[in-house]
Amino acid sequence: AESELIRAQRFEALAMLAGGLSHDLRNLLQPLLLAGDSLQDYADDPRLARLGALVRDCGKRGLDMVQSMLSFARGARRAEQVRLGGLLEALDLLLQGSLPRSIAMEVALDDPDLSFEGNHTELQQCLLNLCLNAIQAMPDGGHLRIASSRCRLPEDFFLPGEEPRDGEYLCLVVADTGEGMDEDTLERLFEPFFTTKKTGTGLGLLSCKRIVASHGGVMRVESRPGEGTRFQLYIPLTELRDDAAAQALDGDSFEGN
Ligand code: ADP
Repeated sequence: AESELIRAQRFEALAMLAGGLSHDLRNLLQPLLLAGDSLQDYADDPRLARLGALVRDCGKRGLDMVQSMLSFARGARRAEQVRLGGLLEALDLLLQGSLPRSIAMEVALDDPDLSFEGNHTELQQCLLNLCLNAIQAMPDGGHLRIASSRCRLPEDFFLPGEEPRDGEYLCLVVADTGEGMDEDTLERLFEPFFTTKKTGTGLGLLSCKRIVASHGGVMRVESRPGEGTRFQLYIPLTELRDDAAAQALDGDSFEGN
């Protein structure tokens, strides 16, 4: 299961690179295509007009390639109805093998029957990453707590480049009483390949962040060296609309300008 996870994380990182690259390339190709178009339409010299057509066609082909790269990066992910209780049951099963006796796990869901629009597999992977990190941060044992509640987005919480969002959120907490993080780690923990572990990938939290962002949510982390760490995930609660059921979720924040 561990190597599965590493493979999934590598894939996430690759998808993210592809997404970022496609976005930049698209911004380069669009003006090129327009320039070729104008050259073809307005050039007096027919040779220049042919050159314009060539530039436009190459630009168009490039954009098509970029488009398919973007679709790959987004994945063929579908919006589905996720049941909170189901998510945690699956997590519990996955964790059973990795949970040492010295760690007490507590799950406190305020409403296991809460269901919302999202992607079960991705959210499960995200929670699994957070829990495995928590377990690794408690080599001498401790307390792992997973809790959920419905809430508003905290006042001081702004979505990047946007007004604070009004609707209701699911707040998921993953907290441990482990070694915590120093300032430097706290600053860098979402950097790709940043790890303080001998065999870490440094991709776990990046992939969590990406998953939460693709759900339109945000993540917060608090940590004190020697005391523990607390991750909070805020995921907007939206009902799955019938017309949206067949469409892929389309909230890729890495694509925005
Ligand atoms: P990896 O687990 O492979 O190192 P992550 O991206 O998941 O990669 O985590 C990056 C780093 O953040 C870890 O190496 C560790 O230093 C720190 N970290 C993450 N979660 C915790 C936690 N619960 N407690 C202490 N440190 C953590």
